[in-house]
Amino acid sequence: MENESFRDHLSTVTQEGNRIWVYPKKQKGKFYTARTIVSLFLLTVLFITPWIKIDGHPYMLFNVFERKFIVLGLSFGPQDFYIFALGFVTLVVFVVLFTAIFGRIFCGWVCPQTVFMEMVFRKIEYLIEGDSAQQRALDKAPYDFSKFFKKFSKHLIFFFIAILIGNTFMAYIVGIDETLHMISFPPTDHLTGFISVFVFSLIFYFVFSKFREQACTIVCPYGRLQGVLLDSNTVVVAYDNVRGEPRGKLEKENINNFGDCIDCHLCVAVCPTGIDIRNGTQLECVNCTSCIDACDSIMDKVEKPHGLIRYASMKGIKDKIKFKITPRIILYSTLLVILMSIFTTLLLSREDVKVNVLRSPGKIYQEMPDGKISNLYHVVLVNNTFKDIPVEVKINNPDAEFKLIGKEISLQSLNVQEAEFMILFNRDKIKSTVMQLNIQIYANGKIVNDIKTTFIGPAKN
Ligand code: SF4
Ligand code: SF4
Repeated sequence: MENESFRDHLSTVTQEGNRIWVYPKKQKGKFYTARTIVSLFLLTVLFITPWIKIDGHPYMLFNVFERKFIVLGLSFGPQDFYIFALGFVTLVVFVVLFTAIFGRIFCGWVCPQTVFMEMVFRKIEYLIEGDSAQQRALDKAPYDFSKFFKKFSKHLIFFFIAILIGNTFMAYIVGIDETLHMISFPPTDHLTGFISVFVFSLIFYFVFSKFREQACTIVCPYGRLQGVLLDSNTVVVAYDNVRGEPRGKLEKENINNFGDCIDCHLCVAVCPTGIDIRNGTQLECVNCTSCIDACDSIMDKVEKPHGLIRYASMKGIKDKIKFKITPRIILYSTLLVILMSIFTTLLLSREDVKVNVLRSPGKIYQEMPDGKISNLYHVVLVNNTFKDIPVEVKINNPDAEFKLIGKEISLQSLNVQEAEFMILFNRDKIKSTVMQLNIQIYANGKIVNDIKTTFIGPAKN
């Protein structure tokens, strides 16, 4: 019963509903070193990317306000929504597949929440306030100069980093030039931008200084999905209960009575979400691997093999097998390959200039004062490049006359332009009530689109 009680409550909340602050013990070990390297790489990419430009344009931009998006140097606009939608679906399937096989591995290694919390903010906390025991003592101690100084400097650094993250976040939305401009001029010159960055920064500061593991255990929707995505074949950070139980303190007289777990609680002490992995897979586990390193260090001391806590599936532990490909994995993989193929094809077949010509609604043809018959068309042109493109429209019929309504079409970079034009024929050149026509769009002197359409004329008497 006691073993099962963990399922009825959060380990970080008291019976009265008060929060229990988690003081995870400092970690070291091969997984922690590997995660530090991965985090350094990811943080470098995150902070450097907004500064990268190609031909004077950002490498990545997610300007939701102006609906301009640049991904890996390729520009996307609202007209590319279908590519984004498909990309999103592909990403979801990828995440589902990945989670079905490897559980919450993303959370422990790549998620910005874990990377910032464990590799930036937590390290600063250890540096200023010491390991978990010192932090506990400091929190219990009355305020004196030393405590005030430690707390103040920690929160000041936290807030500075939160501002840095807030500005980087802004640079991904409005671009680095606009962000630098905002930083260099008084807040009154760009009040909206200033308030946005300030609010972002406050949120980041609050999440990393106060909210912490609750973002993963209570708020994160991906975390909530684990219950339906994981099964007994999923590889997660798991305690080998077959090998470890019955657990018991290592003493000479009972050396043969117990399993390999010496009940030292180090795996619990290092856990940033405050759980005991020996209770089995739990929603709160972010697969951070700290308990693996902790337990391996204990196994070294008691001269037992590593891996009492390791990456393994429940089935694998029970049946002592490594990894099994299930029908679900085959299904997801097939779906993923299909979606990725469609996505890649759409991406590669994207044209620099996209054109859509439609007959304008209303009268199907008009009779002009000079006796000519005209049809009205509506054209939408999208420039997917960073350059302005001069556009020319030609008709493949020598008897047709083209007449643009309004100003010249000059397609500006990353812009959408709409225009209306007429096609006119002398009445005697109209061979049938519906004539096939090709409207050719030239950009920079090269044909970029050849659109088949129709010209409607009056019936011959
Ligand atoms: S660290 Fe290993 S030995 Fe110690 S309690 Fe956890 S599982 Fe048992
Ligand atoms: S149980 Fe282990 S892997 Fe899971 S969050 Fe805690 S320390 Fe990390």
